[in-house]
Amino acid sequence: MAEPVSLYIHIPFCVRKCRYCSFVSEADAPLSPREYTDLLLREMALRAGRGAVPSRAPTLYLGGGTPSLLPPGEVGRIIETAGRLLGLEADAEVTLEANPGTVTPASLAGYRAAGVNRLSLGVQSFDDRMLATLGRVHSAREAREAFDAARRAGFDSVGIDLIHSLPGQDIGHWRGELRRAADLSPEHISAYGLTVEEGTTFARLEAQGALLLPGEEESARMFEETAELLAAFGYEHYEISNYARPGRRSRHNRVYWRRGNYLGFGAGAHSFLRSPWPGVRWKNPDELARYGRLLAAGSLPDEDVVSLSGRAAMGEWLFLGLRMLDGVETARFREEFGAELEAVYGGEVERLRAAGLLDAAGGVLRLTRRGILLSNQVFARFL
Ligand code: SF4
Repeated sequence: MAEPVSLYIHIPFCVRKCRYCSFVSEADAPLSPREYTDLLLREMALRAGRGAVPSRAPTLYLGGGTPSLLPPGEVGRIIETAGRLLGLEADAEVTLEANPGTVTPASLAGYRAAGVNRLSLGVQSFDDRMLATLGRVHSAREAREAFDAARRAGFDSVGIDLIHSLPGQDIGHWRGELRRAADLSPEHISAYGLTVEEGTTFARLEAQGALLLPGEEESARMFEETAELLAAFGYEHYEISNYARPGRRSRHNRVYWRRGNYLGFGAGAHSFLRSPWPGVRWKNPDELARYGRLLAAGSLPDEDVVSLSGRAAMGEWLFLGLRMLDGVETARFREEFGAELEAVYGGEVERLRAAGLLDAAGGVLRLTRRGILLSNQVFARFL
């Protein structure tokens, strides 16, 4: 494949399931880290054997689940194999999601030595009460210790993930959370609003009327003040939920938002390639046993394969691109699809402009502040 293709590795294990979590992950992993890594390497080798691999991969992201449950030696095997079989570049951005309750100074030093150069710490809150409500396995102190240990291990690119609009939270509490995160001076901060997903403990509690979430207005204030407060600490708001110091935006996530190529490995991993044009998506089975069986039989575990129509690809290009606050260039739409954005979406764009949700100037479309707040409504128009 001539175009760059990023790599995503899914680690579907956790110490225990958080109460809000709907990600593909399970506690009590039926496989050892070594056995699961063997499966990942088998999938890489199978794909390479069919020639369906990139000639160059600029980023690799180990997500989960809890990738920091893999010992550094296993992470090293994954990175080494990706370099040998999948074109992982020598200066690639290699990110590992780490749960503060699962790392030690030695394991962090091991990840760094294995080639991980960016750490994403799932802190979520600096308040032990909130952490208990969320069902996290770590305390606020452990999160701070993990951050300090990451610095000592040589990580000069560390991100902190936080969640706002938690049960019982108000704007004053959230401001304190942001200040505590910024005081640590990470290069990147992700701040997501809590969403109650089907099938989670939180969904059950909500159905019973036992989950007291902040109202819509309070939630909107938390979102709006995040950008203001973090700007005062030198963070640029560059994507709806992401903030970074200059030059420290996530290269890997930008591939998703720009409709770039990525290959996912592991149970539950998603993939997208732009070829055959205008693109094909698929996912690996969520169920670990099925994922393992397919690989053992020598089959690639690709399921739910969807070839995009031209119109679907255009819609994706717009709503993924608009997630970035720099917006999208209409000239690039023309380059991608050989059509004028105006001709395809002119009416919709005009309506969103009139509603104050979209700004169009100088050949660039971008969300307004109000559009960022109501982004789901904007994106629904392009689906
Ligand atoms: S650590 Fe992350 S993936 Fe694991 S259960 Fe908690 S939220 Fe889900």
